[in-house]
Amino acid sequence: MSNFNGLMLEANLIGGAWTGADSGETIAVTNPATGETLGQIPASGADETTRAIAAAKDAFATWSRTDLMARVKLLQDLHDALLDNQEPLAQLLTAEQGKPLFEARGEIAIGSAYVRWFAERGRRAEGEIFPAPTADRRLLVTHHPVGVVGAITPWNFPSSMLARKLAPALAVGCTVVAKPATQTPYSGLAWGKLCEDVGFPAGVVNILTGSARAIGGAIMQSPDVRKVTFTGSTEVGKTLIRQSADTVKKVSMELGGNAPFIVFDDADLDAAIEGAMVAKYRNMGQTCVCTNRFIVQAGIHDAFVQRLAEATGALVVGDGTEAGVQQGPLIDNTAVEKVETMIADAVEKGGTVVTGGKRHGNGGTYFQPTVVTGATGDMMFATDEIFGPLSAVFKFETEDEALAAANATEYGLAAYAYTNDLARVFRLNEGLDYGMIGINAGLITTVEAPFGGVKESGIGKEGGSQGLEDYLDTKYTAIAGLGG
Ligand code: NAP
Repeated sequence: MSNFNGLMLEANLIGGAWTGADSGETIAVTNPATGETLGQIPASGADETTRAIAAAKDAFATWSRTDLMARVKLLQDLHDALLDNQEPLAQLLTAEQGKPLFEARGEIAIGSAYVRWFAERGRRAEGEIFPAPTADRRLLVTHHPVGVVGAITPWNFPSSMLARKLAPALAVGCTVVAKPATQTPYSGLAWGKLCEDVGFPAGVVNILTGSARAIGGAIMQSPDVRKVTFTGSTEVGKTLIRQSADTVKKVSMELGGNAPFIVFDDADLDAAIEGAMVAKYRNMGQTCVCTNRFIVQAGIHDAFVQRLAEATGALVVGDGTEAGVQQGPLIDNTAVEKVETMIADAVEKGGTVVTGGKRHGNGGTYFQPTVVTGATGDMMFATDEIFGPLSAVFKFETEDEALAAANATEYGLAAYAYTNDLARVFRLNEGLDYGMIGINAGLITTVEAPFGGVKESGIGKEGGSQGLEDYLDTKYTAIAGLGG
């Protein structure tokens, strides 16, 4: 698809103008399926970011006072534009990120659903009037857009991660300076083009590519940026939290995970396998909510492993643009080496490779979907995010043991459990230290629900009503002298 219907932009969007880096320098972007260069993006730095923040600040003065229904209409038009362009946007996403086309189409669809959701929720940022302790007073609690928002997004969901940030920010009247991941910048820049096409005023949405440290540094240092919303690794998230202290910014942090997937003896095995495949292998295992550890009760363990290995071995690996492909390449060679290291570590400590285990015959960054059994707590994948198509299967005997193992991590993003015992479901709800729990479900992300983690997996929520609140400041106003 040549130029992806005009949606592949190779410039920054700052204050309504598409421009290169001040230095004129660019960064090459690679298609992970072919290893070929897809294009060049601006290598921007602090100066361009400072101008983008100034443009966003200017735009905020009018955008935050624009009629609510005018903002809602623009978001509805943006939603429609995303769906009208679903195919070229999905092609662009697969070209830069590698995921199979059917998943890329799904990502565009859920991104548009977030836009629609927040267009609707933006109309419901209600305040409150409280009874005052004295008759001459009225007490108002009102909500207001925080101001300029800095948004930094990762490579694994380059379109929908921006949707969750842009949509609530724009709905309540904030303006945005966004930095997409350098490996997958085009899906982010395409949001800028669509926002421009449907008529968002200049400066409301600004998007820059380039040095993470320089752009991130300028965003974090600026007193004009009142909130930073970040999705990415826990390590970078911690740096941003530290940097936010100097100007006391609001922060939302969607960080790493180490999801347990617990299968109890009483589980429906067919359902557990279906859930396991989606919870493990979506985006080749490169999602923050992907299963990191299968924790399987002894009575069902062997049957589960056999079925999981069969299904894993049957996955079709190839270029995501080809029909029937279920697993594309990994994002880069570092990701492949991490999976290889984890498999070698597990085998050295007594684990068994049941299927896969090696680089795929396609070469490049393709890897065989893999199942390892005999997993133990001292293996790397017990504590580290795998971020690849590797299923690690642990065995347990009792529910207490499973809960303790599931919680034995500093992460707390998503957890899954398969069981038909209702009382146990409530024990899991109360006992699992996770922000999101799927019971008999391997795919739980939906716009209506708050997505986000606890512990070192993050701060704040995206989606649901909570996803809007994160972009609002609350003011209390006491009005005295009213008589009565
Ligand atoms: P990453 O290395 O933390 O990068 C994320 C973003 O931060 C990129 O845009 C990156 O820019 C930027 N960045 C890196 N260093 C920075 C700095 N010092 N200051 C400011 N920005 C900086 O994460 P990733 O490898 O792209 O994404 C994978 C991680 O994201 C995994 O840990 C995954 O679990 C997590 N994730 C979490 C969620 C969630 O909702 N909880 C969702 C998806 C992914 P460059 O690309 O230019 O380096």
